[in-house]
Amino acid sequence: MDVLNALGWVKFSIIYENNNGLIRVQELLKEHRYRITLRQLPRTEDYRPMLKDAKKAGVTHVVLDVERPNIFKVLKQAQQIGMLTSYHNYFVTSLDLHTVDLEDFRHGGTNITALRVVDPENAMVQRVIQDWVFGQTRYGRNANSPTAPTLMNNNITFLETEVALMYDAVQLFAKALHDLHRSRHIDLTRLECDGDATWVHGNSLINYMKWVEINGLTGLIKFDTEGFRRDVTLEIVEMTKDGLVRVGRWDPTNGANYTRTYQEVQQGIVESLQNKTLIISTILADPYTMLRETSERMTGNDRYEGFCVDLIHEIALVLGFNYTLKLASDGKHGKYHENTDKWDGMIGELLDQKADLAIGDLTITYEREQVVDFTMPWMNLGISILYRKPTRKPPNLFSFLSPLSLDVWLYMATAYLGVSLLLFVLARLSPYEWSVSAVLRPDDSNKTNTENQFSLHNSLWFTMGSLLQQGTDQQPKAVSTRIVAGIWWFFTLIMISSYTANLAAFLTVERMESPIEGAEDLAQQTKIKYGCLYGGSTWTFFSTSKMPTYQRMFNFMESQRPSVYSKSNEMGVERVLRGDGMYAYLMESSSIEYITERHCDLTQVGGLLDSKSYGIALPPGSPYRTLINSAVLKLQEMGRLHILKRRWWKEKRGGGRCEDDESKSSSKANELGLSNVGGVFVVLLAGMGLASVVAVCEFVWKSRKLATEEHASVWAEMGKEIRFALACSDSNKPVRKKSLDHENGPSYLSMNTYGSTFTASQYSFASKDPLS
Ligand code: ASP
Repeated sequence: MDVLNALGWVKFSIIYENNNGLIRVQELLKEHRYRITLRQLPRTEDYRPMLKDAKKAGVTHVVLDVERPNIFKVLKQAQQIGMLTSYHNYFVTSLDLHTVDLEDFRHGGTNITALRVVDPENAMVQRVIQDWVFGQTRYGRNANSPTAPTLMNNNITFLETEVALMYDAVQLFAKALHDLHRSRHIDLTRLECDGDATWVHGNSLINYMKWVEINGLTGLIKFDTEGFRRDVTLEIVEMTKDGLVRVGRWDPTNGANYTRTYQEVQQGIVESLQNKTLIISTILADPYTMLRETSERMTGNDRYEGFCVDLIHEIALVLGFNYTLKLASDGKHGKYHENTDKWDGMIGELLDQKADLAIGDLTITYEREQVVDFTMPWMNLGISILYRKPTRKPPNLFSFLSPLSLDVWLYMATAYLGVSLLLFVLARLSPYEWSVSAVLRPDDSNKTNTENQFSLHNSLWFTMGSLLQQGTDQQPKAVSTRIVAGIWWFFTLIMISSYTANLAAFLTVERMESPIEGAEDLAQQTKIKYGCLYGGSTWTFFSTSKMPTYQRMFNFMESQRPSVYSKSNEMGVERVLRGDGMYAYLMESSSIEYITERHCDLTQVGGLLDSKSYGIALPPGSPYRTLINSAVLKLQEMGRLHILKRRWWKEKRGGGRCEDDESKSSSKANELGLSNVGGVFVVLLAGMGLASVVAVCEFVWKSRKLATEEHASVWAEMGKEIRFALACSDSNKPVRKKSLDHENGPSYLSMNTYGSTFTASQYSFASKDPLS
């Protein structure tokens, strides 16, 4: 049990011969941690059916409890049916494995572990064997007697454990008797077996035997008070190319202790890989494994090329093994079938021991990891959607609106109305916007009025004119209104230039339109069909997903007749190409990348639905996993994987064809949002605020002046002026003589003759002749 724990065994089969064996392994059976299957050797000499059965059940770890003479037979028959490969591990309970001829099993790479109590290299053991053999030849004893040392094919003689124990027992007995004899005189009496008389020295002899400590063939011999042997040490031996070698020790206090280092173990595996030919299972899938395009007739590994073929070649160069590529008979990745309790595809080949390694676009999944071993991932990817490229959008009749977003258009309209209104109000408030006008009437009743050019109508027209980069007749005169106008012009300058620049981009770029943007869009409609490779990891992802969207997608795919699934990715791609936008294919992103490099009218839609990787699969418990892991890491760090990817994706077999297309379509024009032009609105608002403040100052200043001149209160004057300004009815107001003062800024007299107006610079002008 200690050794099994040190080896890390949890799941194994115990093959036993008789009930004694079962008693020997009972402690193992009591341990709940272990998952044990029991198999008894049949009474016949043919163990093959039983072994075949074990092989079929996927047994790779075996505790073999059979009598010494049968060990060879069992191992030989296991070898014949392929149960003695480098993926199999045996622990032999017999202490006599070293006396069995293991020559035939040395090179298979099988891990055979056992314990022994007799160290054949021990000098004492060697001497005893030599004496024995010499004695036999000299005295002509029967060499075939059951206690004779075992002579192996290689002329090395081993002592069976029982023989050594008997030898030690006799030695011990002799020593005890000798010691007893030295301490007292032993007289011999004749005793009857069925008589009552006992030998008086019997008890003393037993006590002497318990006291004595001698070095025997089976190590140090000593006993506890009960008479059980104490401090036995066992050697842990393991099968290598050079036969059984000691790899550790077991003793009752420390348990199993391996003396070899991890490096030594790895070195042993590297050596076992050298010049070995591994069978590599793969499937045809572009660009991982493809049939070589050549006019010559190719054989062997030369028939194939691709990313995985190059990858395994590089790994083989690093580790120094040979390999034979072999296509999985059903061309599948690997799916578990409940009804047959079997795996198909490459995973099935590994489990059936038809291959030592599986490489291809084989995704590492939880379910597969339960039955086989995966190496480090060599490529990362995720599920995505392969679909037709978006089609050109027909130009919109109102595409001139596109350069600005709707909210910017709305803000502009609001700004236009707001600025016009503010201009109107400020112009009325500001006294400098009022100019003298003489209304000439035919009946000679001419009147002198002051007039404000910024009526509401004119204000709207003024701002409109400047927005569209045209001029109007009105020109502001007061500082406040000029600030409004200036800021508005600045605003229009920026807005119109931004609009013009973006319009140019919009008119030159083609707008693309795709009915689906991602998996959500697919799930929400039924018009466009979609499917994936049947039985692969993509299918498993949808079939086991707990996300409502993916569950809905899976139910849709399952319900479709004819089926939306495909047997290979190639067929799926074909279907998208023929589908004219009515079929989308769920595929792994690395394969999509390869396809979109070559089929320029196809593209990846949306992001990745999950994240996973491809790895190399090995049979469970494969000793080569660590080595292949290191090789993959090494290639990754050397940049070889990157180079291989570029070679097979971009360069070979028509790669890089769609690059120009990609760069063209990537230049996109977007409408300008508020975030792009918001600052101009801020400037406009600030300008409007400033203008309002200035207008109020102007207004107060003028009211105060008028109040002084007319000896009225400032507040009364202001009230009067405000009332008029706010009575929006008229843009004319009667001239208040004193207010028309040159010092107060330029004043203009406008003359209105039935609708036509002229202006003069003098207020005193009041001629009847309109032309003067
Ligand atoms: N790479 C996948 C697999 O290993 C195949 C797929 O579903 O696209 O099963």
